[in-house]
Amino acid sequence: MSRRQQKKVIAQGVRALRATPSWDPARHRPESTTERLRDEIERSRIGDALESASACEACGKRREETGDPGALCPDHLRTALGL
Ligand SMILES: [Zn+2]
Repeated sequence: MSRRQQKKVIAQGVRALRATPSWDPARHRPESTTERLRDEIERSRIGDALESASACEACGKRREETGDPGALCPDHLRTALGL
């Protein structure tokens, strides 16, 4: 996967996460440094999850099935959501 594609996949993954009712960053505006830090960790965890997902067979299968390059297998979706 090229870097450009990777960026696109991450953007799509984040969009998919934002569409999840329980994950609305607009409702959790970081106010303190701690919260900002948590926000950063959250962001990098999503990046990590998507990075390992790009090498995952189940994710690849899901992408093929859905035609959505940002699709994740249930395991990686959970990781990306921090569950
Ligand atoms: Zn996966």
